[in-house]
Amino acid sequence: MKSKHQEHARKDWDTYFMDIAYMVSTRSRCHRRHVGAVLVQGKKLLGTAYNGAPMGIEDCEEAGCMISEEYELVLNDQGAEQMVKKQRCIRTIHAEQNLLLFTDRIDREGSTVYVTDQPCWTCANMLANSGINEIVFHRPYLKDDQKVRHLMKQAGIIFRSLNMYEPPEHAAMDIKQ
Ligand SMILES: [Zn+2]
Ligand SMILES: [Zn+2]
Repeated sequence: MKSKHQEHARKDWDTYFMDIAYMVSTRSRCHRRHVGAVLVQGKKLLGTAYNGAPMGIEDCEEAGCMISEEYELVLNDQGAEQMVKKQRCIRTIHAEQNLLLFTDRIDREGSTVYVTDQPCWTCANMLANSGINEIVFHRPYLKDDQKVRHLMKQAGIIFRSLNMYEPPEHAAMDIKQ
């Protein structure tokens, strides 16, 4: 018979797969953000990926991040439009996109993606066309939040965040915004 302690210590599936996504994210060498993603069909792990430069190409650790600056129109607290300068690293292929490159369409039909960070607009757009039917994420990415949620609704994809989840120790980096 299992002790009470063992019962309590057993991880639920969401925690189990998100823990794996975080462990995968530690492979990333982009100093701005470590992202991990896993593909799950039923309870079977079908693929893992993290953000990184293409194979054989120098990565952020070797060549530095490739920073792209762009301006975005946002509404401030008073409801007025304001131009805000944003920076992002474009050297890496995002974890979700790598996951799509390394898995087969037939495996993805009806599957779930666990990803450490809320997908950006481009990744969400690609995931919406990838056959998956659920995305589970942990850290919010507010920049694209509204348009991504609207897209998920239209695409009929379940979009969940794990609010109470805590990543494994040392697996989650501090994010530079
Ligand atoms: Zn980088
Ligand atoms: Zn992305």
